[in-house]
Amino acid sequence: MPRQFKVVIAGGGMAGLMLGHLLERAGIEYEIFERAKEVVQLGSAMAFGANILPAFEQLGMLEEVERISKVMEDIVYMDENLNEVMSFSRTESNEKLGYGIRAFSRVDMYDLLLSKVPAHKIHFGKKVLSVVEDDDEVTLKFADKTTATGDICVGADGGYSAVRQCMYKMLEQTGDIDPSDLEELTFGYYNLVGTTAPMDPAKYPALESPDCKLLMVQRSSSKHAMHTFTVPGNRFCWNVSEHIKTEFGPNTSVFRGTEWGSEKAEQMCNEVRDFKAPFGGVLGDYIDATPKEAISKVMLEEKLFKTWHSKRTILIGDSCHKMLPSAGQGAVNAMQDAVVLANYLYDLSDKPSSKELYAAFKDFQAERYPHVRDAFILSQQRSKLISGQTFYERWLRKLYFALVPTSVHVKSSEKPNAYRPQASFLPMIPDRGTFKVLPRSYSKRYLEEQKLLKQSGGATAIPV
Ligand SMILES: Cc1cc2nc3c(=O)[nH]c(=O)nc-3n(C[C@H](O)[C@H](O)[C@H](O)COP(=O)(O)OP(=O)(O)OC[C@H]3O[C@@H](n4cnc5c(N)ncnc54)[C@H](O)[C@@H]3O)c2cc1C
Repeated sequence: MPRQFKVVIAGGGMAGLMLGHLLERAGIEYEIFERAKEVVQLGSAMAFGANILPAFEQLGMLEEVERISKVMEDIVYMDENLNEVMSFSRTESNEKLGYGIRAFSRVDMYDLLLSKVPAHKIHFGKKVLSVVEDDDEVTLKFADKTTATGDICVGADGGYSAVRQCMYKMLEQTGDIDPSDLEELTFGYYNLVGTTAPMDPAKYPALESPDCKLLMVQRSSSKHAMHTFTVPGNRFCWNVSEHIKTEFGPNTSVFRGTEWGSEKAEQMCNEVRDFKAPFGGVLGDYIDATPKEAISKVMLEEKLFKTWHSKRTILIGDSCHKMLPSAGQGAVNAMQDAVVLANYLYDLSDKPSSKELYAAFKDFQAERYPHVRDAFILSQQRSKLISGQTFYERWLRKLYFALVPTSVHVKSSEKPNAYRPQASFLPMIPDRGTFKVLPRSYSKRYLEEQKLLKQSGGATAIPV
């Protein structure tokens, strides 16, 4: 049944697009407003595992994800002379979890998600400046002086969310905000990222492997860590992080490049180009094989916000939980937010009041927050272990690699896979693997619809 409410989504990043696709499937009216004038081909590798792949399978997208990705089987940690410090195979864990971790270039995943949203539902060149909320509706105001109105606003506009900032200003007036939310995000690293054009497998034989190889290098003569992944199409995804926090606290004299963009990258490219690269040659070879406009330098920040919603506005993805990338959980949690929020929106009445919306948003946050907090902590710990360059973090790394068995390391990565949300308004995919998965349930509304279908003699999608 068509609903009488409309969702306006600020931000057409991965979270905004995934939510758009889910709302399309749920038959809920929506529009996406993205600041960028056109699609930007920026980013390095990302990976999805068993805690989000079932949702992609349910949406009929698993084969497409498989086409753009490789299963991550071998992970190797190295020192700057490329001596192996720790390595392990993920094969056994992948079998237990039922899904291999699939690594891909962000650019390819972005294109895949974008292809699932009808072109007329996403508007580029629409930078949200403010959000005005009243009892009956919510209005987005854009930099080009136009506006868009809906019943619900979703802020999917990233770590520096304009929606969040407007919402917090409004909530500050009524005292409905945790004071810690008004503090800035904390930052600790620069990150330089890119995906190469196809490279020669005769020169880099690892490219020919059907599996993704992930090689990580921790340097001790500088404050850098480097990750290199093999992805389909004979390409490497690479990134280098530079620790910029001093032992005594954040260094405030550094440049604060908070947006993904290629403008600030050149100097850092020159600084790191002589680093030995684990798949052969030096990092400069990979930089030169990456189109200049596809290399991006950003600050890596983190913050888990405590206030996620007002009466008609709700935040998802980086706008409410910006994680460091080392555990590969930032994008996964943004996708999970989209799935779970779509479930709550599906169960709303046909014309929900602000009171009903507020209650649904509160339940959404209560469901998501504990999982997001666990992923946030894991991301923080992994970043310290992999990229941290303080005296303490270097020692911790040495001890960890010397003393902690790889089985313990792998086990800690498995933990987030117990939670595997799926759309509650579509037939669910049965659990795979032997790992214990948390229970899920169908939407009440969906079950009623299926029962009505059965009573009227129609074929139901699930047994009722
Ligand atoms: C171009 C780009 C490249 C990235 N590359 C990597 C990478 O290599 N590795 C990695 O780990 N993470 C990367 N990220 C971050 C990663 O995509 C996110 O951490 C994760 O996917 C969560 O997604 P999100 O949709 O919540 O946030 P984001 O991916 O940040 O998406 C937010 C979207 O909102 C848009 N937006 C921002 N402000 C406004 C506004 N005022 N009005 C309208 N739209 C607005 C942005 O342009 C962006 O498209 C990248 C993000 C971007 C935007």
